[in-house]
Amino acid sequence: MLNVSEKARSLAQDVQAFIDDQLIPFERAQGVSFASSASKAQLRTVWKLSAERNIYSMMLPENLGGAALGLLDLCFVKELIAASDAVLFSHVLGDFSGPPRVGHLFKYASDYQLDRYLLPVAHADKAICFALTEPGAGSDALSIQTRAERESDHYVLNGRKRFITGAPFADIAMVFAVTDADRGADGISLLFVDLDAPGVTVTSDYLPMSGQRTDGDIQFENCRVPTENLIGEPGQGFKLGMSRITMNRILHCATMLGLARRALRHASKFALERRQFGRRIADLQAIQHMIADMHTELFAAQSMVNMTAARFDAGEELRAEASMCKLFCSETAFKIADRSVQIHGGAGLIQGHPVEWIFRMLRMFRILTGTSEIQRNTIAKAVLNPSR
Ligand SMILES: Cc1cc2nc3c(=O)[nH]c(=O)nc-3n(C[C@H](O)[C@H](O)[C@H](O)COP(=O)(O)OP(=O)(O)OC[C@H]3O[C@@H](n4cnc5c(N)ncnc54)[C@H](O)[C@@H]3O)c2cc1C
Repeated sequence: MLNVSEKARSLAQDVQAFIDDQLIPFERAQGVSFASSASKAQLRTVWKLSAERNIYSMMLPENLGGAALGLLDLCFVKELIAASDAVLFSHVLGDFSGPPRVGHLFKYASDYQLDRYLLPVAHADKAICFALTEPGAGSDALSIQTRAERESDHYVLNGRKRFITGAPFADIAMVFAVTDADRGADGISLLFVDLDAPGVTVTSDYLPMSGQRTDGDIQFENCRVPTENLIGEPGQGFKLGMSRITMNRILHCATMLGLARRALRHASKFALERRQFGRRIADLQAIQHMIADMHTELFAAQSMVNMTAARFDAGEELRAEASMCKLFCSETAFKIADRSVQIHGGAGLIQGHPVEWIFRMLRMFRILTGTSEIQRNTIAKAVLNPSR
């Protein structure tokens, strides 16, 4: 049996009860579906309900209400959440705009930042987004052009951030901006910016493949940001932002695997119910083989992620392995979703059907948080480096 702690198993039960007893009934009552976007008010309700049950802040440090779980435990809980039938599963722990976004910053934040930004995020009173990407800087994140020029007790911020998850419903952004153009990664700083400040405009005029309006652009025009909003030291921003990249990549894998599990569950159920040529399609060898392959691939991906998470918990440095997991899981989970659509026939092509939605969600993961090509670059660099 997987070496998941008793605490994580018990929390998983609480989370499952929350999803079954509160979240899914709430979605039904509010008409939230796979084919529509939830409103800001609906999302806030979900965050608050989750916070009331001490679930929302699970990933924070223990002194802030966190559960002090290791990565293997967290993967176990995250996979379970994504595998549930909830549409708004990403909001149970605040993946887009809540505690997971800021957990690692608590140790760098000043008391002012703690009170004004981090604790309100932890308590689901405010939402936050992570703003790195720009129109001209995607995979090449170090080429960002947003500038923060120091002027006495504030920075003047100018630039445009693109494709920022949570921007349409966030109150705060963590913004990466160049403070010293001559220093490359060491010239990028990280600032808390209130999204209702003068000089900030948030637009959300595109709809990602997920069909949910969760992303937007943020324009800064001579926006004055107090120097006390700088996180850590000047020039430390890029390192701070990337400091949890290994852990975050593995946590994303758990979400992908949960979605793949959900697709597989739907496929098996459909195959056992749907009848053609006088028998269940589950009795056809073509369908059986697809289901066998899906299970095999899911098992391989889960084994890889669990092993990597356990080694991470034991203190190993696993940057390349995290990229291997992200690459393999995103490609494998998508293949599983694709077969699930195939097994559903026409029903799986109809907008709003769970597997049609999972297929679209999982397609996005091959690009988000570092494309498959960028993961391959990281892996190749590590394995071809003789000093490794
Ligand atoms: C829905 C959505 C949500 C997002 N959320 C956020 C967010 O919250 N915060 C944030 O900061 N960003 C966010 N992003 C941005 C996301 O991280 C980028 O889209 C992603 O990193 C890829 O960058 P790009 O779109 O500019 O593609 P590009 O970097 O332009 O890449 C285009 C193609 O070129 C390939 N390529 C580029 N460079 C290389 C290379 N060196 N070697 C091999 N191939 C290469 C890529 O793999 C890809 O196939 C989001 C994007 C979307 C669509």
